Amino acid sequence: MTYRGRFAPSPTGHLHFGSLVAAVGSWLCARHAGGEWLVRVEDIDPPREMPGSAESILAALPAFGLAADGVVLFQSHRRAAYDDAFEQLKAADLVFPCWCSRNDLAGGLHLDGHCLAGPTPGREPAWRLRVPDVEIRFDDALQGPQAQNLRQTAGDFVIRRVEGYYAYQLACVVDDAFQGVTEVVRGNDLLDSTPRQIFLQRCLGLPTPRYLHLPLALDGSGRKLSKSEQAHPVDPTNPMPALRRALAFLDLPVFAAASCPADLLELALEQFDPARLPHCSERMAA
Ligand code: GLU
Repeated sequence: MTYRGRFAPSPTGHLHFGSLVAAVGSWLCARHAGGEWLVRVEDIDPPREMPGSAESILAALPAFGLAADGVVLFQSHRRAAYDDAFEQLKAADLVFPCWCSRNDLAGGLHLDGHCLAGPTPGREPAWRLRVPDVEIRFDDALQGPQAQNLRQTAGDFVIRRVEGYYAYQLACVVDDAFQGVTEVVRGNDLLDSTPRQIFLQRCLGLPTPRYLHLPLALDGSGRKLSKSEQAHPVDPTNPMPALRRALAFLDLPVFAAASCPADLLELALEQFDPARLPHCSERMAA
């Protein structure tokens, strides 16, 4: 099977150092395997999006030497596919409508497959997946063996929100399968989403890709670099310093002699071995 990797940014801000690391890491893994590297814009959450962000991220990637294979997939164009997946779950009685508010659930109450609040006139429900008492195990290519009891950690999680938007977990799983992604390389902040995604793949009869979660980039005070806080944008008009920092973050040499991003990435690729990526869950961004 052809290796197919992807980079799947949410357009909530400009490309920042943490997402550059995910982009570079997933690109290196895909090219090292002689595979393809796809880009998918996860624009399914309009309230969280920043106008112009998708264009800004898509323009920045080639400036960093990262060219996607094939056309970019926009999740905002994929509503019909998410509707189909939702109908499939509904037909199998794997989802239920829920009118509970966050407050209702604050005390750690378990829904156990049914809504505690009951239908509320004039209010649309969220739709939740029925999550049994199941332990999901997978072997992360960098972080090692993982196990999560899905009932205890995620519970009956929302797959379609009150406003009618589909949750990231559902859209991600549907599109990884649609795009034929064989390996998901992304930041370690998404490690704990993976069991939910694997469970959804099983519910929908979709294949499970391999997973590799890169160390999460932290700022000077030990917090995650976050796009939405506009922290640490990288400058695509002067790409070499940030690209070198991203390579150093992944324990690769920074090749002082390289003159442009494409050369720098080619040199990095020659040295790249996924087995030598840093085996830690997070580290400080230089
Ligand atoms: N869209 C997510 C983000 O920007 C990443 C999703 C993924 O790689 O699965 O954080």
